[in-house]
Amino acid sequence: MEELLELYSVMGVSPAVYQYGEEALKRLESRFSEIDKIAEYNQAKVLAAMQKNHVSAACFAATTGYGYDDMGRDNLERVYADVFHTESALVRPQITCGTHALTVALSANLLPGDELLSPVGLPYDTLQEVIGIRPSPCSLAEYGVSYRQVDLLEDGSFDYEGIRSAINEKTKLITIQRSKGYATRPTFSVTQIGELIAFCKKIKPDVLVMVDNCYGEFVETIEPSDVGADMTVGSLIKNPGGGLAPIGGYIAGTKACIDRCGYRLSAPGLGQEVGANLGLMPALYQGFFLAPTVVAGAEKGAIFAANLYEPLGFPCFPNATENRHDIIQAVELGSEAAMVAFCKGIQAAAPVDSFASPIPGDMPGYDSQVIMAAGAFVQGSSIELSADGPIRPPYAVYFQGGLTWYHAKLGILMSLQKMIDADLIQL
Ligand SMILES: *Cc1c(COP(=O)(O)O)cnc(C)c1O
Repeated sequence: MEELLELYSVMGVSPAVYQYGEEALKRLESRFSEIDKIAEYNQAKVLAAMQKNHVSAACFAATTGYGYDDMGRDNLERVYADVFHTESALVRPQITCGTHALTVALSANLLPGDELLSPVGLPYDTLQEVIGIRPSPCSLAEYGVSYRQVDLLEDGSFDYEGIRSAINEKTKLITIQRSKGYATRPTFSVTQIGELIAFCKKIKPDVLVMVDNCYGEFVETIEPSDVGADMTVGSLIKNPGGGLAPIGGYIAGTKACIDRCGYRLSAPGLGQEVGANLGLMPALYQGFFLAPTVVAGAEKGAIFAANLYEPLGFPCFPNATENRHDIIQAVELGSEAAMVAFCKGIQAAAPVDSFASPIPGDMPGYDSQVIMAAGAFVQGSSIELSADGPIRPPYAVYFQGGLTWYHAKLGILMSLQKMIDADLIQL
């Protein structure tokens, strides 16, 4: 299409880069149609939950103050519970981010003397301070919760023998991170997570399992809550917010666990009864409604990126042909300069702040400098097209999101163009 090529040229993507992308796309048709099938199923799942719970205009009314009897809020929590097939859910704008949701889930269900176990290696950067792996005021460690970790085996699989010997009489809660985070290990499939949960519960039937589901929602037709997780936790400015939620987090799980999360989030005795919705219900409902298709677009972008960068010699995780279990694409760029060029491309393709130029900087919760590219409608939203990564070897950039596939595509083409412009690669 001449017009498109012309417009892309004006925007800074050369015909050669565009053609390189089109060649890759030809190989991806059947994979993209698989993704569309999963999105169709998940769309139906969300619709069925909304219909079952009689979502109506009355659910969108704003509440203020205490938010007693907030029917829109309570109903949204039933919709989430039905989609995740759980007894209960806590879905609140008062949960400020994914780290906060995970903190609530952990601190509500761990008491002094209990032990937390991660059988999948080191958790996500910000969780390290929550747990107290890196000392921090108000960490779980300060409150007398001990922590144990079993690393993955060299091939990325679970160290079942190590896990068996790590589970002891103090082990109260097991935390499993689905997505790779800022690591280059594989992301786990929901089925793999189910196998790990079954193994742990066979050794200790009453142990609680929490899954950090960040970036995983709606990538498959099942969620960790379908395979035995007591709590499934994530951020609304990632997948389940569908790009429309301006803030929030969710925890879906057993009534016993979620009740405690409610008390931890507000106050003992108050629990889920308080928490005004502040007029955010339309965005939270509509975002959840859009999430399955938004996630599908983001996943296509991730696959496209791997299929552009891997042939150029950059290791990609997951690789160009692997199945996906989250929307993250890690690309090992090998140098700070390449990370900067890549991020400049993502930024230049954005609808918001496209004129800005990302540079590495310090971030609360992270122990090395981080570069972030995002031109988002919601600040920090990483279901919107974004790329980030810590400035440390192997200089991997983590690419994710895109509210539409076409935007994700343009962002990746633009990143490639910036790499070429900086003389870092040749097509
Ligand atoms: C994003 C993320 C978090 C933390 O979420 P924030 O909203 O950034 O606080 C935790 N775990 C994983 C795996 C994540 O990807």
